[in-house]
Amino acid sequence: MTVMRTNRLPVYAERIQDMDSTDYQETQDLFGSLTFTGDVMLKRLSEDVYAKLQKTMQQGLAIDPAIANTVAEAMKEWALEHGCTHYCHWFQPLTGSTAEKHDAFFVPNDDGKTIASFTGAQLIRGEPDASSFPSGGIRDTYEARGYTAWDATSPAFILRSGRHATLCIPTAFVSWTGEALDKKTPLLRSLRAVSDQAMRILRIFGTDKGVSQVITTIGSEQEYFLINKEFYLLRPDLLMCGRTVIGAPPPKGHQLDDHYFGSIPERVMAYMADVESRLNELGVPVQTRHNEVAPGQYEIAPVFENANVATDHQMLMMHTLRTCAPHHGFVCLLHEKPFAGVNGSGKHNNWSLATDTGANLLNPQEETHTNMQFLVFLLAVIRAVDLHANLLRAAVSTAGNDHRLGANEAPPAIISIYLGEMLSDILDQLERGETTSTKKSPHLDLGANTLPQIPRHSSDRNRTSPFAFTGNKFEVRTVGASASIAWPNTILNTMVAESLDYLATQLEKKVSAKSSNDEIEAAVKAVLKEVVCKHRRVVFDGDNYDPKWHEQAQKRGLPHLKTTAQGLDELKSKETIDLFSKYEVLNERELRARYAVLLDRYTTTIGIEARTMISMINTHVLPAAIRYQGQIAEAIAATKAAGITCEDTHNQLQDLVNMISTLRKATDRVAEAESYTAEDADRLGHHVCDTLNPAMEAARAAADAIELVLPDDLWTLPSYAEMLFMR
Ligand code: ADP
Ligand code: MG
Repeated sequence: MTVMRTNRLPVYAERIQDMDSTDYQETQDLFGSLTFTGDVMLKRLSEDVYAKLQKTMQQGLAIDPAIANTVAEAMKEWALEHGCTHYCHWFQPLTGSTAEKHDAFFVPNDDGKTIASFTGAQLIRGEPDASSFPSGGIRDTYEARGYTAWDATSPAFILRSGRHATLCIPTAFVSWTGEALDKKTPLLRSLRAVSDQAMRILRIFGTDKGVSQVITTIGSEQEYFLINKEFYLLRPDLLMCGRTVIGAPPPKGHQLDDHYFGSIPERVMAYMADVESRLNELGVPVQTRHNEVAPGQYEIAPVFENANVATDHQMLMMHTLRTCAPHHGFVCLLHEKPFAGVNGSGKHNNWSLATDTGANLLNPQEETHTNMQFLVFLLAVIRAVDLHANLLRAAVSTAGNDHRLGANEAPPAIISIYLGEMLSDILDQLERGETTSTKKSPHLDLGANTLPQIPRHSSDRNRTSPFAFTGNKFEVRTVGASASIAWPNTILNTMVAESLDYLATQLEKKVSAKSSNDEIEAAVKAVLKEVVCKHRRVVFDGDNYDPKWHEQAQKRGLPHLKTTAQGLDELKSKETIDLFSKYEVLNERELRARYAVLLDRYTTTIGIEARTMISMINTHVLPAAIRYQGQIAEAIAATKAAGITCEDTHNQLQDLVNMISTLRKATDRVAEAESYTAEDADRLGHHVCDTLNPAMEAARAAADAIELVLPDDLWTLPSYAEMLFMR
C-alpha cells in the first residue's frame, strides 16, 4: 500500500492504526532506524567491539583493523535484514554531490553457490575509478587509481529507492598519491586543526580538564522551492539549469509578506512530513519547517550536530528533499536563484565550537564581560573574518550564488559581522582597556494582563548580515542552497584555527601555569584590546542592504568581491596557500585543484545556461513573437481594407517589431560571447563574468519585455505566476 508511505511520521500514528494489519507490517519496519548507530550497534556487537568502535567514533580515530571484520559482519546482517541487496562506499567528490558505486552482497563461491559476503577489508577500503571525477589536474585520465576509506565517525545508513535498499558507508575519497579528491577529507583535517588550537586556549584558562578535543558544531537551515512537476517539465531552463534563465516577473512577488511563516498548504505539508520521516530514519534530526519569504519557498532545519556528521546529513537532506518531491507531484529546486526578482535560497550555516564534554565555547553566559574565555573565542572569529573575508567569499563562490548575494533578501557580497548591542558594547569596553559591565535587556512588557512578561534576548536579530552572532553561535548566511557545506566550513575552520593559534601564542607569552586568574585576565585584556582595535572594522550592526553601508564598507577598506571569478582568485593567493599548508588542511596542489574545479564548474554552468537561453529564445520566444507580429499585421490589413484607420495598432506592431529586433541582437551577442574559447581557464572565467553574464542579462530583459505583451494563447512556457503560485 504505497500511498501510506507519505504518512510515516510517528505523529501520524493514529492514521497508521487505521491501516489493515498487512499494511502495518509492511510499513512498521520503516519506523525503525536505518542508521548503524546506538541501539542497533549495541544489539549486534560484543561489548568489547562496541566500546572500541565508540571510542573511534567519539575521538575521531582511525578504525582498528582487528575489529573491522566483526563490524562488517554485523553491518551485513543488519543490512540484509532490512532488505539490502547491495552496499556502497558513499563519498563526496569535488562535483559537490554525492557518489556511490554499488556492489552486491551476494557473490557465487567456488561451489557455484551464492553467498552473502562483506569483509572488514571491503568495509574499510574501496577502489573507485578516480579518473571519472574532477581532480583539478591532480590525476590524469590514465592515472585512475583512487581509494575510498571508511569514516567510522559518521554512521553507516540504509538508503531506500523504491523497493531497493542499499547499505551506504560514509567514506573519504583520495587519489593513489594520497591527495584528497573529495570534500570530506579536508573538512576532517580542518576539524583537527581547529581542535588543536582551541585546546591551547582551554589549557590557558585551565578548562581543558577531561576534554580530549574541541568539536565544531553545525546546524544548517535549508531553503528550497517547490513547483509543480508539470510546470518543471515544460521549462527547458529548469530541466537543464535548475533555474529560469528567462521569465517576466508576476504582478505579485513577496511585497505583501503574506507567504513568510504563513500556513503551510496541505499538499506541501504532506511532502514535508514525508521528507521528515525519511530523514528521521536516516538519523538526520529534523527540527523546524516553515514557509519562507518567496511564494513557493520553504525551509527545513535540523538540530545541530558535530560538523562531520552534520555535513553528511546535509547531503542526505538535499537528496531526500529532491527525491521525495515527485511522489507529491512536485519538483524541489535547490538552486540559489530559481526565479529572478524574488528571494533566492540559501543555507544558513550555524556554526559554533564545543568541547567534547558538551560545553559551547561561544556561549556568552550572563556576565559576559567577565567571561574572558568566551571573549577570546569571539575575537578569534572576528579577527579571522576580517583577515580572510575574501576567502570566506571564495568559500561560497558559485555561478548560482552570484545571483543571490546582494539581491533580494540575501546578504551582500561584502563580508561583515553582526554582533548586536550587548557584544558591541563589550568591544567598546575592551577597546578602552576595561570591561566592567554587561548590558541587560529588560523583560518585554506587552501591556496586556493576559500576556506573560517575556525575557528579551541580549541582541536583536539582523537578517541582512552575512555573518551574524545569534546568541551562542555564528550564522553564516552566504552559503548557497545547493552547495555542500563541507567547503565553506573547511575554510571557516582553517581561518579560525589560524586566529586561535595567533591568540594562544600571544597569551602563552604572557601567562604560565602559575599565573593567577587576575594575571590571566589582564593578559587577555591586553591582547584583545589590540585585536579589537585592528579588526573591529569588520563588525557592522546596521542594515547590510543599505547602499550607504556599501560606501562605508569601502571607506573601511572591506573587500567587495561581486563575482565568483573574483572570489575564486583568492584561492590562488600566497596567503591562502600558506594558510592551508600551515595547518595541513590542503597542500598547494590540492588547493589549486579546488580552484581549477570550482572555476571550471562556474564557466561550464554559465555556458549551459547561455545555450539554454539561446535555444529557448529561438524556439519559444521568437516564434511566438513572430506569430503575434503576423496576427497584428493581418488585423491592420483587414482593418484598413474595411476603410478604417488604426494608428494605435500600427504603433503596437512597430513596437513589437522593435522589441523582436532588440531581442535578436541581444541573443546574437550571447551566442558570440558563449562561443569564446580561451586556453587559459582564468581568462575564460573573467570573460564569462565580464562579458557573457551581462550579455545574458540584456537578452533576458528583451525576452521578458516580449513575454509581457504576448497574448496568453501564444506563450508556450509556464509563467512565473503559474510556477510560483499554483500548488
Ligand atoms: P534561528 O532563530 O536562527 O532559526 P534556531 O535556534 O532555530 O535559530 O537555530 C537554527 C539552527 O542553528 C538549528 O539548526 C540549530 O540546531 C542550530 N544551532 C543551535 N545551536 C547551535 C550551536 N551551538 N552550534 C551550531 N548550530 C546550532
Ligand atoms: Mg536562522
